[in-house]
Amino acid sequence: MSENRADIWDVIVIGGGAAGLSGALTLARAQRRTLVLDGGRPRNAVAEHMHGVLGHDGLPPLELLRRGRAEVESYGEWCAPPSSPT
Ligand SMILES: Cc1cc2nc3c(=O)[nH]c(=O)nc-3n(C[C@H](O)[C@H](O)[C@H](O)COP(=O)(O)OP(=O)(O)OC[C@H]3O[C@@H](n4cnc5c(N)ncnc54)[C@H](O)[C@@H]3O)c2cc1C
Repeated sequence: MSENRADIWDVIVIGGGAAGLSGALTLARAQRRTLVLDGGRPRNAVAEHMHGVLGHDGLPPLELLRRGRAEVESYGEWCAPPSSPT
């Protein structure tokens, strides 16, 4: 039986918030094929700005997640696009 390597992941991360993306970034840098599945409902979605995160004070939290997804994807790994938050 042949295997399609494109369908095989080392790790599947459930949740693409700050925690899931941080883990996925570390895994991708360690050359683990990593898939992030995200429901697109981060708990701080209502906040316009975030504070106390070094280097990102005042940044919109959704921008942090956009940058995080781009960083994970820059290692060739894949983040499922989030569904629209309701
Ligand atoms: C109003 C508010 C303001 C805040 N302001 C700040 C601040 O200024 N500075 C600061 O440092 N912290 C702040 N926080 C705390 C910060 O938001 C959290 O610490 C951080 O979001 C936690 O990240 P997380 O990845 O664990 O969870 P979340 O950000 O909640 O992300 C979890 C993700 O996983 C997805 N998910 C969950 N279950 C599943 C599933 N079964 N399948 C697929 N996807 C799933 C969700 O849809 C979501 O996208 C604030 C929180 C709130 C509520």
